[in-house]
Amino acid sequence: MTDTHCPYCSLQCGMTLRVGSSLASSGQAGSSRSRRLEVRERDFPVNEGALCRKGWTATGLRGHRERLTTPLLRDRATGELRAASWDEALDVVATRLRTLQEAHGPDTVAVFGGGGLTNEKAYLLGKLARVALRTSRIDYNGRWCMSSAASAANQALGIDRGLPFPLADIERTDVLVLVGSNLAETMPPAARHLDRLRERGGHVVVIDPRRTATAARADTVLQPVPGTDLALALGVLHLLDAAGAVDEEYVASRTTGFAAVRRTAAAWWPERVERVTGVSAGELRALAGLLAGAGTVTVLTARGAEQHSQGTATVLGWLNVALALGMPGKAHAGYGCLTGQGNGQGGREHGQKSDQLPGYRMIDDPAAREHVARVWGVDPESIPGKGLSAYELLESLGTGSRALLVFGSNIVVSAPNATRVTERLAALDLLVVADIVLSETAAMADVVLPVTQWAEESGTMTNLEGRVILRERAVTPPDGVRSDLDVYAGLASRLGSTAAFPTDPEEAFAELRLASAGGRADYAGITYDRIRAEDGVFWPCPAEDHPGTPRMFADSFATPDGRARFVDVEHAGAAEQPDADYPVHLTTGRVLAQYQSGAQTRRVRDLPDDGPFVELHPMLAARIGARDGEPVMVTTRRGSLRAPARIVDTIRPDTIFVPFHWVGANRLTNDALDPSSRMPEFKVCAAEVGLDTPS
Ligand code: SF4
Repeated sequence: MTDTHCPYCSLQCGMTLRVGSSLASSGQAGSSRSRRLEVRERDFPVNEGALCRKGWTATGLRGHRERLTTPLLRDRATGELRAASWDEALDVVATRLRTLQEAHGPDTVAVFGGGGLTNEKAYLLGKLARVALRTSRIDYNGRWCMSSAASAANQALGIDRGLPFPLADIERTDVLVLVGSNLAETMPPAARHLDRLRERGGHVVVIDPRRTATAARADTVLQPVPGTDLALALGVLHLLDAAGAVDEEYVASRTTGFAAVRRTAAAWWPERVERVTGVSAGELRALAGLLAGAGTVTVLTARGAEQHSQGTATVLGWLNVALALGMPGKAHAGYGCLTGQGNGQGGREHGQKSDQLPGYRMIDDPAAREHVARVWGVDPESIPGKGLSAYELLESLGTGSRALLVFGSNIVVSAPNATRVTERLAALDLLVVADIVLSETAAMADVVLPVTQWAEESGTMTNLEGRVILRERAVTPPDGVRSDLDVYAGLASRLGSTAAFPTDPEEAFAELRLASAGGRADYAGITYDRIRAEDGVFWPCPAEDHPGTPRMFADSFATPDGRARFVDVEHAGAAEQPDADYPVHLTTGRVLAQYQSGAQTRRVRDLPDDGPFVELHPMLAARIGARDGEPVMVTTRRGSLRAPARIVDTIRPDTIFVPFHWVGANRLTNDALDPSSRMPEFKVCAAEVGLDTPS
């Protein structure tokens, strides 16, 4: 029996894996083929034994017939992928990378990581890029997850830890405001906190253009026009100020910058907010009255608020509301972000972002470069500077960078404006993808490297609360499969790097601890043994005798003067507004049974794989003549998608919804970027929907 954690979302639910002795079905690969792996419940504080159906079926991908167990090389003559040895594959990659860099410079090689990689892998991937490849071009898919919330929290609170308190704290808040979160579907075990909060008389507010499964568990549901959450926040602040509900003492003693924010909010009277958001002035007044009368308020944002060209400003708008009410730092109150990917939090702390070094240090900070260079044993001057954000990096492929290494990401499905991104991938001289199956992105690669999956190796993850947990190895990987850590080490040595690239996860973590020491995300005091003994340790944890930090900001914020910053933000709206050609809003999101690009969950037999659908309101369906279950065509300025209509009265009549777990949804989405976080505007664009009639 091995105590570990789910392979999927940022809740990182605890579970126990039991390795059985019975023979498994045919098709399982490698030395573990005779062992059946079963999921058992485990009492971990985050999920208290509960799992969603993705967690219960998490072993379904093990031994899958599509599991890759040998490296693949694209034959230049036939254009087909053929089996190769590890030595041949790594030699080919290293030789071609070196040749390209000699001809075009270090930045001709780009690296793309993932928010599902363990902390050890994320850390060493950043080191591989900057030390062995000497490229500045590294970023990862977490840029498309929570980067707007990270940018906002860094500005306002001085640090970004998704939740600066344990998730269970939300049960004890008086009013919980969920802005753009459908946690009842994306992380179902978390929904019990909503039920308990309501049982003890608390109030749940859900703000979402769709009346989701989460909305069904709420007391108040507001359905604004997609892309107008910031106007709503400004309207709430306007009413709180007018009612004298601003906590003036807190604002004076613990914050700066409120005067400008107050002036901006003064122009957002309820009728103006109603015109922009579609939320009535009465609903707005009721929400403001609820917040004004509450002893404790917690505001949580998720992708619905964040994945916008104004995502950072939108989160700042809601942070301003929380600060005006005097909540951040107070018990059972404050602001937090519900990170999405399994290691969405840790993945952004250890240096796989284009502008950051390990420990959440900024790459242009000389002291940070000095510290990390010392750990890496290199000259600080040799560490490249800031690179390009994820989408900008992909846009540069074929011209700026001619080779791309991808670890833990399925870009073809998950990138915005995916047709354009796929064209850029096709323009590369060399695409290398490390994955467990032939994902849509791996299928385009020149070299495919089969790597270990969850349960086949140990490694730490950092969940949405900043709790560092340990996924333990429970089974032996199939023959022919290697860890990403082995791939990094194999490439680094072939590239002539003498720097250390540990292949043992605990050894890698020991180096990560040194690199993070003294940084904002300080892991120096966290060890594998402590994590096992304490079932997770919260960062910052600067020493082994430090208890870790479950709750932050009680006395001061992480800014130089210890005060939180109000940041003056103004609503501008989505980059693309409906017009005569594209008259409705398109928004995208998730469904319960699938995870991210679906590369894993679409292959799990016990999870329904219904393919994409188009959710639309009966009024819109009647206008275009659509019938439930029959195909409709969605078109935007970037592409089209044909999918069955799902007619529901829970969505705004001016909005349609498409889940993004399959190829298609992101061919429609807009690549307009947030100026601060560089988050693409996944959550809203202008679209046309009509019957899929043969021409
Ligand atoms: Fe896994 Fe997330 Fe489901 Fe928990 S909620 S079982 S972590 S997918």
